[in-house]
Amino acid sequence: MEKVIIVGSGCAGLTAAIYAARGNLNPLVLEGRQPGGQLSTTTLVENFPGFPDGIDGPQLIMNMHAQAEKFGARFSYSEVTDFEGLADHIRVKLDDEKWLETRALIIASGAAARYLGLENEEKLIGHGLTSCATCDGAFYRNVPVCVIGGGDSAAEEALFLTKFASKVYLIHRRDKLRASKIMADRVLACDKIEPIWNTVVTRYLPDEKGEMSAVMLRNVATHEERELPVACVFVAIGHDPNTKAFQGKLETDPDGYLLARHLAESKHPGVFIAGDVADRVYKQAVTAAGSGCAAALEAEKYLSGLEK
Ligand code: NAP
Repeated sequence: MEKVIIVGSGCAGLTAAIYAARGNLNPLVLEGRQPGGQLSTTTLVENFPGFPDGIDGPQLIMNMHAQAEKFGARFSYSEVTDFEGLADHIRVKLDDEKWLETRALIIASGAAARYLGLENEEKLIGHGLTSCATCDGAFYRNVPVCVIGGGDSAAEEALFLTKFASKVYLIHRRDKLRASKIMADRVLACDKIEPIWNTVVTRYLPDEKGEMSAVMLRNVATHEERELPVACVFVAIGHDPNTKAFQGKLETDPDGYLLARHLAESKHPGVFIAGDVADRVYKQAVTAAGSGCAAALEAEKYLSGLEK
């Protein structure tokens, strides 16, 4: 029986691992389908405190990994596919069909940005295709960019990008924004943002170096197609929390985000929650790290309560 299993190895999971390992809990980290989480696919991270010159996302993750390992955290390239919460312990099923038992579980399985599912997509991520304006916006100064989506995320990203880009096209599949009125009003009042309504992106058009140079658009009303030159495409069509293994077993909101009570605690004894798997608002590396810390401290408190 393990003392603590941590599901996920992004910022939240690794911070939980550092704290749990330093608390002598000998945690086992199940790294998941995307080891390192969303930071492992970004480039320069300029807003993580302590790095005035920024730090590469993958480097930041490697540092956290090394720090957790130094204090005794163990790692396994496994994904959790099922979960069973029993009265005094928890069982998780791995992708190799094996079940593990643990006294406490920290779920930090993150969320994955939705993309369009077009050809070349995976190759272009980090080469002019991204889902994070706060991470990558500053690299696109004085060039045209586009944002895809019509919700609050798209509105927020578009407004943020006006600080850098020469022009921000907001490409939305309908003729009305889904974003809250205040955000929609701001977007529509901004000279630098040009909405392109009733339109979808049908193809990414990279240059010969493999960097994004344009997108092919199709007007869904007229079926007209045209090319739009852009240096970067910011996809903001929502995120999906990685909670498939926990659906129907732990409390989630209608979109599948896990619901945490008092900071990191779930309703099930011994199950703690950290990071984007429960965060539909901030979604920042530093907030994920903070909640990973809280989850590990809560787990430590819970385990010492069991020993009494
Ligand atoms: P969202 O509200 O679900 O909006 C997603 C947008 O992407 C919608 O406009 C949707 O179009 C479009 N979309 C979805 N799939 C698409 C596809 N395959 N192709 C093209 N377009 C597609 O997601 P979100 O903007 O990430 O917001 C999620 C939640 O977080 C919301 O509750 C939001 O209010 C909240 N949030 C709040 C703030 C804030 O208050 N500052 C900031 C960000 C997010 P349709 O409109 O046609 O469905």
